[in-house]
Amino acid sequence: MLKIPTIQARKKYSSIGVLTSGGDAPGMNAAIRAVVRYAIVHGCQVHGILRGYSGLLDEQMIPLEATSVANIIQRGGTLLKTDRCEAFFKKSTRKKAAEILRKKGLEGLVVIGGDGSFTGAHLLEKENDFPVIGVPGTIDNDIAQTDDTIGFDTAVSTAIEAIDRIRDTASSHDRTFLVEVMGRSSGFIALQVGMAGGAETIIIPERKQSIQNICETIDRGIRRGKTSSIIVVAEGQKPGLSARLAQELSQSGHPAKVCILGHTQRGGTPTAHDRVLASVLGASAVAYLMAGKSSAMVGIQNSQVALVPFSKVIGVKKQVSQDLLQLAQELSS
Ligand code: ADP
Repeated sequence: MLKIPTIQARKKYSSIGVLTSGGDAPGMNAAIRAVVRYAIVHGCQVHGILRGYSGLLDEQMIPLEATSVANIIQRGGTLLKTDRCEAFFKKSTRKKAAEILRKKGLEGLVVIGGDGSFTGAHLLEKENDFPVIGVPGTIDNDIAQTDDTIGFDTAVSTAIEAIDRIRDTASSHDRTFLVEVMGRSSGFIALQVGMAGGAETIIIPERKQSIQNICETIDRGIRRGKTSSIIVVAEGQKPGLSARLAQELSQSGHPAKVCILGHTQRGGTPTAHDRVLASVLGASAVAYLMAGKSSAMVGIQNSQVALVPFSKVIGVKKQVSQDLLQLAQELSS
């Protein structure tokens, strides 16, 4: 069971801001709700900043009451909307952002997003001495120093549901299916989905696999009486990976169908797991901010909430579990 850190509030902020930035993830709303309600209970007002850093620069802010976040815990996406903001890469723009935050009477900021959003938050803090705490919200679970991120569990559940359906057809027609899931530079979704969906093999950016390897896996299955196979593929950096693989498999005498799950994995009702995670991390972010902490992410380490400096998170590659990968392979053979 996750626990909120017990913190003595040192600084008494009277007003803080919250924004969501980068790719949306199911559970972001639950995190916003937790930030707002926890802050209000502890005597601090919250302003919701719309459309991430873009909205901040446009001064798009709304005061959020406890009732403003009613009935959102179960909704995917983000009430505050999100955006990618090129201008925030400039130091002068971040200075302007800090000026706007101060002008609006805000004394701290909670940023819900991924590695990119944390980079922007870290620079905003460092250059302008404006307190910021990050909450990891991304379906990819590719943020270092936290075992889990908001949205990952939901994305995996969505993909599993699809795979279970595809397996019915694969089995009825004795086919091989390549199911492409999200994951440009990391295979966390693919590994979890592959393991839970009993995939015959899992293709992720962290591990090179030749077509010959994949054909051998399919052939081994056929020799043992398998008539269909599911191969889970992380999308990778270049669009069209599963289609290219299907073509190569076909040329090697192993015809395969392709199903790309794409953005279906981003939306939808967050799982109970993601709602609880988001609630705990959102509240913890406010608790740490009010205790005078800054420039750090709240994450989960060994089922405990942990505060990790941005400097140990940003740009650090989180490794997929080789043990889990090996086990998934052994269990599918
Ligand atoms: P995510 O937060 O999901 O990783 P992005 O990488 O798209 O998403 O980043 C979201 C936003 O964070 C960017 O559009 C930009 O506004 C800000 N950001 C990302 N990287 C930087 C950076 N190096 N410097 C300043 N801001 C950044």
